[in-house]
Parts: sequence; structure tokens; C-alpha cells
Amino acid sequence: MNKAHELLTSFKARFGTGASVYRAPGRVNLIGEHTDYNEGFVLPAAIGFSCWVGIAPRSDRKLIVYSENFREAHETTWDALAARGSGHWWDYPLGVAWALQEAGYRLRGADIYIAGDVPLGAGLSSSAAIEVSTGYALLSAAGHAVDRTTLALLCQRAENEFVGMRCGIMDQFVSCHGQAGHALMIDCRSLEYRVLRLPAQVRLVICNTMVKHKLQAGEYNVRRAECEEAVPKLSNAVPTIRSLRDVSLEQLSQNQSLLSETLFRRCRHIVSENERVRQVAELFEQGKTQGLWELMAASHQSMRDDYEISCRELDAMVEIATRQRGVYGARMTGGGFGGCTINFVDVEHAPEFQRRVSAEYESAIGLRPDIYICEASQGAELVETTAENLPKVTR
Ligand code: ADP
Ligand code: MG
Repeated sequence: MNKAHELLTSFKARFGTGASVYRAPGRVNLIGEHTDYNEGFVLPAAIGFSCWVGIAPRSDRKLIVYSENFREAHETTWDALAARGSGHWWDYPLGVAWALQEAGYRLRGADIYIAGDVPLGAGLSSSAAIEVSTGYALLSAAGHAVDRTTLALLCQRAENEFVGMRCGIMDQFVSCHGQAGHALMIDCRSLEYRVLRLPAQVRLVICNTMVKHKLQAGEYNVRRAECEEAVPKLSNAVPTIRSLRDVSLEQLSQNQSLLSETLFRRCRHIVSENERVRQVAELFEQGKTQGLWELMAASHQSMRDDYEISCRELDAMVEIATRQRGVYGARMTGGGFGGCTINFVDVEHAPEFQRRVSAEYESAIGLRPDIYICEASQGAELVETTAENLPKVTR
């Protein structure tokens, strides 16, 4: 039985009716780390792990959300949605409901059944997957057409304000706009994006270090604050600056004296990373893999030494990966301080890569990693419907 049918069966058992099932994927960022909140460039792809949401409208104003992952239900009403979450998993779906309501959408009460297979908290954005799938489902169930960029922005608002995590737009955007076999190069200022076909022989292999250091959330906000602090300091030299996106490497080196040593390194990561995103996009545009290795290595090094968001386990995972056959490039991915690495691996070598990296990482670090061989997948979509009174939504 496929996932959608399984979910419809579970939905029926819990809520007693038919439903429509929507899906939105997690993501992996190929390159462009911490550049999104600096209005720069990122290059993520949606992956084959998703959050599925079954939804059926109710005749009252209630919102009932159930998560299969947490085996727990929560009930509220549209009128009782406060502007701030309470620190539970349901902040994610209800935050989206709140953001949609704030944006002026008139929506109906609903029974909502959530089941995800994006690993939670591993840096593959299970949060964006649950937000986007819920948002897509709520809008569609009320008969609204879905504008994907608007939905991404509202999901980001939910995470920023309702959940209280100051994430950029990347995760929600690619969960909405992802395309099978392709990565997206997103300009996080204009929200324009290019769809780039990934070389056919390349698999996206994600290696989970299985560690998540405590620093993670706090240091993310510290890095954001450091970038924001650097912008006014550079504005005498670069009057048009609005964010680090507006600075070139040359301008940065010429004005090193305006910044502390730490701030200079933080800026150098952002500015050089933006340049690397452009270069990787160029390679994909031309269907090339030569040159990927150096750009991925430089990105990892920049995060390790300049942005200081790597850790022993991520460095070990990357180092082990670069010793394997069939690898086009490897780096840590996501916010840092644990989580995953992303590796471009030749399709034929991927299973061997998986076996060897797993064994070598375990003997070096003492933890058995999860290693996923992925392909770029499709963004949010309607998967299946058995509910009779729901409008059919097209992409
Ligand atoms: P990541 O996005 O890297 O997976 P986050 O900490 O940003 O990690 O988001 C993970 C949180 O999102 C979970 O702890 C949970 O609160 C919520 N979440 C994600 N998927 C689900 C799900 N299927 N059911 C309930 N909550 C979920
Ligand atoms: Mg997240």
C-alpha cells in the first residue's frame, strides 16, 4: 500500500471520513550556507522524504491536528489561535494556520492527520515539510488556489513568529517550488529562482552524523546578529549596502580594518559562499561536474574556519567521504554543529560509498550514521483525494 492510501486508511479510522492527501518534501542544501538571511544565493533541492497531510473540512470552526510521529492530537479553533506558539510540535501546523489567517484568508475548520518520514531535527527540514504540507492542505481544502511563493513566505512567517525560529526563506521555498531531478538557485532577495538540472549520473548522498550539539539554535542567532552588525560598519565604504549580499570579496578585503577579526571572517564566509553558489549553478547549467570538488571543499573549509559552524563529527564525515571512489564533492550542509553532510556521488558508486562511509565513520566516531541516497524530488502537491466535496487543485 502506498503512503497516501495508508494515510487515507488511518484518517478514516481516526476521523471517520474520506480526506484529501497533500505532500511536501524536506530538502537538502547543496551549497550556499547561511546566505539566505543575508539576502544572498542558495542552491537547495527537495528530497524524497516528505510530510503527508490528510485533511477533511469540518462544519464548525475547530482545527484538530494529529501527528502520527508523536501519536498525539491537539484541538483548537480558528478564533483561539494566539500569535505565539507554546513550544509543542503543533506550533508548526497551527503557526501556519495563524499566518494564513493573518494574511486575510478565510478558512474552514478541519480535521488534519499528519505523518512524515523526513527525519526530525536532522537538518533536512522536517519543519518546512510539515508547514508547507499543512498550508497547502488548508488553502486547498477551502478552495483557494495556491501561490507557491506566497505560501512559502507565510510558512516562513509562521516559523519566525509563531514557532520563534528566525530561519530564512530557503527551506519553505524549495519545499514549495522543488522539481524532480533539479536543484533551485534562489535569489533570496528578489525570490527569483533558476531551475537547474542535476547531472544525471549524480546522486545526492546525505550522511547524518547522528549528533546535534547544544550550540545549534543559539549560535544560529549569534551568526545572524554578527552579519547584521557588520552591515552598518561597512556602509561608509559601500554606501549602497543593504546586506552582505551587496559586498564583493574585493571590497571586503579593502575594508578589513572596519571590522573586528571575527566579523571579517564571518563576512568572508558569506561573501565567498555567494560566489561559490554562482559557480556551482554555472557548472550545473553546463551539465558539468569538473570543478565541483574544489567548490564544495572550499565551502566546507569556509564554514569550518571562517563561520565556525562545523564540528569534529562533520569534519570527520567529510574527510572520510572525500577518500571514497566516485565522489564529486562533499561538505557539511544545514545550520551546523551536527546534522548532515551532502555528497555528490556517482550513481554506480553510491551503494559502495554508503557502506564504506558508514563503517569508517563508526570506527572513527563510535556512532553508526544514517546514510540516504537521494534524488531531487517534486515540491508540494495534492497526492490523492477521497473527499467528495473538495475542489480539485491543480499546480
Ligand atoms: P528540522 O527542520 O531540521 O527537521 P526543526 O527543529 O526545525 O528540525 O523541526 C523539527 C520539529 O518540527 C519537530 O521537533 C516537530 O516539532 C516538528 N515536526 C516536523 N515534522 C513533524 C511531524 N510529522 N509531526 C509533528 N511534528 C513535526
Ligand atoms: Mg527546520
